[in-house]
Amino acid sequence: MIRDAKRHMLQAPARAAGETEDRCDAASGGQDASSDEHDGNRIGALSHELAAVKGVLDVTLNNVEQGIMMIDADHYVRLYNKKFVDLLEIPKKVLTDPLHFQQIIEFQWSIGEFGGVSEDIASWIRSGGIFKSPPVYERRRPNGTVLEVRTTMLEDGGAVRTFSDVTDRCKKEEALKRAELEYRSLFENAVVGIYRSTVDGRQLRANPALVQLNGYASEDEMLVNVNDIGREWYVDPKRRDQFLDEMRSKGRVTDFVSEVYRHKTREKIWVSETAWCVRSEDGKPVVFEGTVLDASARMHSEAKIAFMAHHDMLTGLPNRAYLTQRIESALCDIRSSGRFAVHYLDLDRFKEINDTLGHAAGDTLLRLAGRRLKKCVRASDIVARLGGDEFAVIQLDVHDDAEAEELAARMVRSLSTPYRIGSHYANVGASVGIAIAPGDGHDVQALIKNADIALYEAKAGGRRTHRRFHASMEAGLQERRQIEVDLRGALARREFIVEFQPVISLASGETEGFEALIRWQRPERGQVAPSVFIPIAEEIGIIESIGEWVLREAARQVACLPGTPFVAVNLSPFQFRSRGIVKTIMSAIAAAGLPPSRLVLEITENVLLRDDKSTRDALNHLRQLGAKIALDDFGAGHSSLHYLSKFKFDKFKIDRSFIAAFENDRAASAVVRAVIHMGRDLGVSVVAEGVETQKQLDGLKALGCHAAQGFFLAEPRAIDDWIATMETTNDEPAAPLNSRSEGEANRRRFGERRATPS
Ligand code: C2E
Ligand code: MG
Ligand code: MG
Repeated sequence: MIRDAKRHMLQAPARAAGETEDRCDAASGGQDASSDEHDGNRIGALSHELAAVKGVLDVTLNNVEQGIMMIDADHYVRLYNKKFVDLLEIPKKVLTDPLHFQQIIEFQWSIGEFGGVSEDIASWIRSGGIFKSPPVYERRRPNGTVLEVRTTMLEDGGAVRTFSDVTDRCKKEEALKRAELEYRSLFENAVVGIYRSTVDGRQLRANPALVQLNGYASEDEMLVNVNDIGREWYVDPKRRDQFLDEMRSKGRVTDFVSEVYRHKTREKIWVSETAWCVRSEDGKPVVFEGTVLDASARMHSEAKIAFMAHHDMLTGLPNRAYLTQRIESALCDIRSSGRFAVHYLDLDRFKEINDTLGHAAGDTLLRLAGRRLKKCVRASDIVARLGGDEFAVIQLDVHDDAEAEELAARMVRSLSTPYRIGSHYANVGASVGIAIAPGDGHDVQALIKNADIALYEAKAGGRRTHRRFHASMEAGLQERRQIEVDLRGALARREFIVEFQPVISLASGETEGFEALIRWQRPERGQVAPSVFIPIAEEIGIIESIGEWVLREAARQVACLPGTPFVAVNLSPFQFRSRGIVKTIMSAIAAAGLPPSRLVLEITENVLLRDDKSTRDALNHLRQLGAKIALDDFGAGHSSLHYLSKFKFDKFKIDRSFIAAFENDRAASAVVRAVIHMGRDLGVSVVAEGVETQKQLDGLKALGCHAAQGFFLAEPRAIDDWIATMETTNDEPAAPLNSRSEGEANRRRFGERRATPS
């Protein structure tokens, strides 16, 4: 409201309304009448003009957006407008005339107008109000509106104050501030790297995550050091060109994975970038912005998954899928790169190692076998593990068959060398089947199948050997499959028989006992040797029932013999997997009425390979019950003297390979001598296996060997053949050793009473 006082705005500043009028009156006091009239007219005109101006001012002041108030040097309010009253919500009763500024302040204090202001503002309001205030300040009113208060000091000591409602602007600023804070927080705390760079590759901003990813301590350090992202960052500089191409064509890249250098350390890492181009209004690229993620772990796991899809995890060698692919591509390239061989390998008796030494040892052996194979081949050849104990090798660029056979022989030799696993030595052999492309197969399946057929043939041929595929072998494979089928039913069809080979005391020439040896009478095929079908029975899991049958049969038959000969029964390592082995054995001999003291159980070192307490317990239990335990084929297997300290044997049976070489080979005869001496020292009786000549017999006798077994003395035969002999030897002089003519000669040379079939 512009009151009378407002008029003074157009005049020289005055202290108060009354004073101004006085001054006007005083100014007109000393003039004559005409001039009075003239002056009167002039004044009238001026008043009129003034009123017009006042009107304009009134309208203007009351229509501006700001509240306006003017005070004089004595702090009397000389002018204010409607907006001033509205903005400050000053009630009419406060707006007295005259109106002192202090009245307004007091009113405002009384209604808590300054409740929300800072202590700073409050203190200068208290101490002097308008004249102590800064030229511009903002304060929030109790109703939430924010006023910008501007004070302009006037020369006469008064002041003009304007009030603007800046609530909206403040809200916008606050929102902006909040947003800025939020974005800053995101930028600072994001775990992904965030950047802005120039289009030509200069880094402009980098958040802490990106700074850290690049090995720097601060953003400043990074910005100073990164000048050309394209040249300095990507391991493959062409990658930057691809990045720029995509940016140009699509305006952004998404999950753009590249290998880059960690800027500071130059260590190679993988990153995934998602970036976009920020353009000016006219569409020109201004900057690139984007996020960067460390993708190293992802790339490594992707590489690992890809590796896993094509590799065997145990040995790290390529797997069957990879082998198949490589054979396929070798077949495609056959014109340019020539013939190639597929070798299919299988470890002999690996299962035994797994069963006796445990799976961890089996795994170690497979890893060692893989390494050995890699050493046998050229870098361009491929060694794969197909699963279990099966491996395959692709030998590229094979000029002639001999080359492939040489490699196969080399691999067999290498794989057959004993493996050291912890404190054990494990012995496995290997068999290899070879198929050479393109002759032995025009596609992957045919090649693998034919190499597999050749492998079967190698196994059937006595293992530790290799065979080259031949079309006729398919029949052989079918034969082996047929053996498996027939073997499964052999026990039920009563196709097994047991033969007995006498074990003869070298001191007395008497038959101490018999070794029971199983034979399979295969209908229409004749007799099959145990060395052929026992490993198959072990492989197909029927050895336990066959072993039990042999025990019962052998005990029953030997129990019928006169005298008290022992019966020696061979036990497969697989039979020790059964917890009830002691019970099975004892019930078998009990059923036959054979005392345990007449039972010898022959085991090979394989049984003891695994330091298995339950096996040792079973053997000790059997010994306690009176059975004797013989170490069969001594010297042929792992031959760790360690076993001898672990278990007390009753007999050592020297492997027949030493006896065969005994006459001519000094090393073999040294072994035989050592075993006999060792037996003597340990109180273990020693039996020589496979004695075939008089000379061997004489030599063994001279060395003090306790007993012998062999074709020269007696071949394995049915028990009936021995019943008569045993009866004869009880009261008659020595009969012929065996039915062959040389038996007579042997008898004369041996010159002792001995077992003889009737
Ligand atoms: P082994 O326990 O070492 O048995 C001795 C093998 O040597 C027998 O072969 C026997 O016929 C043979 N032999 C005996 N004297 C001579 C000789 O003067 N010269 C030659 N060259 N050989 C001789 P066989 O019966 O073929 O048995 C082979 C292997 O089969 C046995 O070796 C044994 O390990 C295993 N075997 C035999 N019967 C059984 C059985 O019932 N159960 C188990 N688990 N294995 C058995
Ligand atoms: Mg034996
Ligand atoms: Mg033997």
